Amino acid sequence: MVGAGFAGLVAADTLVNAGWDVTVLEARDRVGGRAWTDRLGNGAIIERGAEWVEDVQVEMLALCDRLGIPLARTGMSYHDRTPVGGPPVTEDELAAGRAALRTLFAELGDEAYDISVAEAIERLDAVEGAKVAFRARIECTSGAPATELAAWHLLHLASAPEQVDSPRIATGSDAPARALAERLGDRVRLAEPVTAITMDDDGVMIDTTNATYRAAHVVLALPKPILVQAPFVDLLPAEVRAAAETFAVSHAAKLFVPLAGDPAPSAILDTRRDYWVWTAKQGDDGLRPVLAGFAGSKPMLDLLEVERDGTTWARCVAEVRPDLELDFANAGTQTWADDPYAQGIYTHVRPGDRPDSTVLRQRHGRLVLAGEFTDDVWSGFMEGAIRSGMRAASLVDPALPPPPAATH
Ligand SMILES: Cc1cc2nc3c(=O)[nH]c(=O)nc-3n(C[C@H](O)[C@H](O)[C@H](O)COP(=O)(O)OP(=O)(O)OC[C@H]3O[C@@H](n4cnc5c(N)ncnc54)[C@H](O)[C@@H]3O)c2cc1C
Repeated sequence: MVGAGFAGLVAADTLVNAGWDVTVLEARDRVGGRAWTDRLGNGAIIERGAEWVEDVQVEMLALCDRLGIPLARTGMSYHDRTPVGGPPVTEDELAAGRAALRTLFAELGDEAYDISVAEAIERLDAVEGAKVAFRARIECTSGAPATELAAWHLLHLASAPEQVDSPRIATGSDAPARALAERLGDRVRLAEPVTAITMDDDGVMIDTTNATYRAAHVVLALPKPILVQAPFVDLLPAEVRAAAETFAVSHAAKLFVPLAGDPAPSAILDTRRDYWVWTAKQGDDGLRPVLAGFAGSKPMLDLLEVERDGTTWARCVAEVRPDLELDFANAGTQTWADDPYAQGIYTHVRPGDRPDSTVLRQRHGRLVLAGEFTDDVWSGFMEGAIRSGMRAASLVDPALPPPPAATH
């Protein structure tokens, strides 16, 4: 197993339970990959990567349940963000716009792959303030400009539930990964980046910076940008490489500002710079003392100067949340484009590209792929990574069940 994110660890755990001899090779000195929990100086839990769980993400919920990992309600909705900075828009106008968007999305059918989010929003029967908010929302979450996103990405808004109290993993998003790694024990080798792989009739030979391993099968549970580079790309059949290349890499960053006082849970979307900031509860334990933010798309990250530091972004946040007691001196950011083992956040589909990802979910001799972007429904989510790990295990050992069909 190459990669100890959710995908690799779920696949490894499933195979070990079925009696297989598995070794997990991980480049970093921690497990969890793009799920990475940390703490601020004031004690607040922060999520440098994945944060939100949804009630429809059934494999995620089942995994937490199996591992005894608690979820905490946040008192706010991941889906419901008050737009600021654009033309005025009321709650009723936003709700009417969402209804119009659901109708438009259903009407688009396959055209959702041909036209962009920007073009689809132009056609939307909604007030300008709602259109601006929807565009910023999708650019932020999908991590690319609306002109570069297939209208298919509007599914995220079209399928959003209206009134929810969004959950998070109480002990941190990487808790399931840490728990799985504990079960796997010394089968997980940290700080061992894979540097070369060869495959022939006798098996697979894998070199890391520390050792050489031989195996009957190899599962590559890697982010898409890493999979299509050396040392992995030469292993991929041409059709797999072509399918992988239809997924473009998305970019986003996160912001963390220690927070004092006891404000209410909230979610604000700055439509001028495509970021949202939130304050959220930690279940019954009150508010997590942090204002967190997520900004998406490369042009917006450049505008917010996130690669320099968080100062420009913090200045913008101070403008939209003057009511909060924010400790900007101890604020921090997390970028992912410069992370050597992720090189982006997740992937998106460009207008005109119609990815045939079925080939990513098949076995290719001794090679099996996993990783969130290979999932047919939940790519870009922890749920997709878990489902891909279950599928990878079933491809290695056909006696194991694949994940059940899912809907968004
Ligand atoms: C900023 C951000 C916010 C997100 N928010 C959410 C959210 O709110 N909710 C949600 O469900 N999802 C969210 N996601 C997506 C979620 O994090 C991913 O879908 C999921 O964690 C991916 O798991 P994975 O196992 O497929 O990949 P990864 O977690 O990336 O695991 C791949 C592993 O491979 C390792 N690796 C790379 N190269 C090598 C090598 N050469 N040798 C050995 N190992 C290697 C990496 O170090 C990594 O540990 C977010 C992601 C980001 C970045």
